[in-house]
Amino acid sequence: MVRKYTAAEKRWIFASLIFLVPLVVLAIIFTPGGTTKQKSVFASQGQQADANQVLAELEQKDPNRPQHKHPAYKERIEERAKMVFEQIEARDVNDPNVLRSMRIVPRHFFVRSSEEHYAYADFPLPIGYDQTISQPYIVGFMTQALKLDPNSMVLEIGTGSGYQAAVCAEIAKEVYTIEIVEELAAISEKRLKELGYLNVFAKAGDGFFGWPEHAPFDAIIGTAAAGRVPEPLIKQLKPGGRMILPVGGSRDFQYLVLMTKDDKGNLSRRKVMPVRFVPMTGEVQKPKK
Ligand code: SAH
Repeated sequence: MVRKYTAAEKRWIFASLIFLVPLVVLAIIFTPGGTTKQKSVFASQGQQADANQVLAELEQKDPNRPQHKHPAYKERIEERAKMVFEQIEARDVNDPNVLRSMRIVPRHFFVRSSEEHYAYADFPLPIGYDQTISQPYIVGFMTQALKLDPNSMVLEIGTGSGYQAAVCAEIAKEVYTIEIVEELAAISEKRLKELGYLNVFAKAGDGFFGWPEHAPFDAIIGTAAAGRVPEPLIKQLKPGGRMILPVGGSRDFQYLVLMTKDDKGNLSRRKVMPVRFVPMTGEVQKPKK
């Protein structure tokens, strides 16, 4: 015989259902990777890396690669992941090597203490001596344009803070970087050593002349703007190599120019983005010989 519920029992069942049903619904909505359809849309464009993922990316067993032992690597990890997700990946940079590299390099270690607070913000910052560290997005865009891999030999003109060199060094084999302001060259060389970038070779000098002793390079990156592309740099680019640098005489009319040299040595160049960089000084400003 089917037992009848008493009025009191019915009230209890009703009350528990009122509580339980919304609880279950809420649990389903907020379970990570749950049934919410919108999530999968974001997932297909990549998701913001969490701290554990970044800590795993810091692991480095190959003794010839940057070692990530300095405490700065473990500081402000979430802010860096957020910067990469919102400023870099959300725009048009999707090379996984570049995204990983920018999650790793502790940008706050490359700026002065007065600017540390803004280290992960979406704009360039002053680094002293009238120079700037580029906006993170520009660093990501230029690094991606170089199509670096673990065998790449890179030349950079304009070390500045050393940040761009570090971002390249996380991906490439070796990075040669030249800075014309001697004090900046000394500061950034020390900083890069301290952080374990033993594959970065820095010197003070005029980058106009490149670094012939280590040429040719698979990739050349210039981070100061000149009215023309220095001829020695073109010569020092390997066939099959890529070079990106800002070109334009005045501060208001500059373009990032991407040059590629084919296997026969033919050059092609195209403007890829309007930009605003500090001027390249030294030889390039003298009348052409
Ligand atoms: N890549 C840098 C940004 C540097 S700003 C970073 O990540 O922080 C450009 C730098 O180019 C400045 O430090 C400036 O002093 C340097 N520079 C300008 N003309 C140069 C030249 N002819 N050779 C080498 N460096 C030069």
